Amino acid sequence: MWSFSAWRRRRTLARYPIDAALWHTVREHLPMLDGITPEEDRWLREASVLFLHDKHLTLLPGVELDDAQRLFFAAQAQLPLLHLGDHDWYQGFHELILYPDDFQSPQRHRDGSGVEHVWNGEHSGEAWQQGPVILAWPGVLASGGREAYNLVIHELAHKLDMLNGDANGLPPLHRDMVLGDWAGAMQAAFDDLNRQLDADPDAETPIDPYAAENPAEFFAVTSEYFFSAPDVLDQAYPEVYQQLSLFYRQSPLMRLQRLQAEHPAYRIEQP
Ligand SMILES: [Zn+2]
Repeated sequence: MWSFSAWRRRRTLARYPIDAALWHTVREHLPMLDGITPEEDRWLREASVLFLHDKHLTLLPGVELDDAQRLFFAAQAQLPLLHLGDHDWYQGFHELILYPDDFQSPQRHRDGSGVEHVWNGEHSGEAWQQGPVILAWPGVLASGGREAYNLVIHELAHKLDMLNGDANGLPPLHRDMVLGDWAGAMQAAFDDLNRQLDADPDAETPIDPYAAENPAEFFAVTSEYFFSAPDVLDQAYPEVYQQLSLFYRQSPLMRLQRLQAEHPAYRIEQP
């Protein structure tokens, strides 16, 4: 059957081909992608071009990006979608705004007695329901490695979470997933993290304590680990890793283990 979207896709890719050397440069800055197959690499490359074509990047003064940096950004945005099929997962927003540095934005919190607190907080990223994704470029630049940090994946995980309403740590699960399994795994790990921090606010937690803020942050932070430090997440909370692998339909841990089997010093070699 003739498909308009397939035709548009082919036309866009034909108009904006990526030079092999340019893509090679992009891959060199994304150790997180090491171990993907040639087919996955090709999909990511094409999906990155389409993403940059479909979305609008607003660069605030002080941010200037060349083609390699745009692709570096787009490839990280597309990695979570690698095996999620044709569905438009990043629907409902058109714009991504890049700030030259961390930014101030008003935060609200209603405490247990119903009093609303508003204060200005320093942020490196934000995702608004039905609105743009805002990212500080230095945070994007610091992403892409295997350091359990990825600002792009973090903010876009919030967008996936918002596909079925407010960000609450529950994105739309696939039909072959079990809501109770997801909720059980996430809640147990979230509670465990909070218990550790309640006992000692300076506790050396197995994952970033920011995940303990609320279930939405838990999903966003564990998504960062899932792609950039899957071994750390799997060791800390194997059931969370398992649910995320069912949701994202890929296994970064297997990729990493394969690399380590082939190159025992793989992790140490990272810059
Ligand atoms: Zn967040």
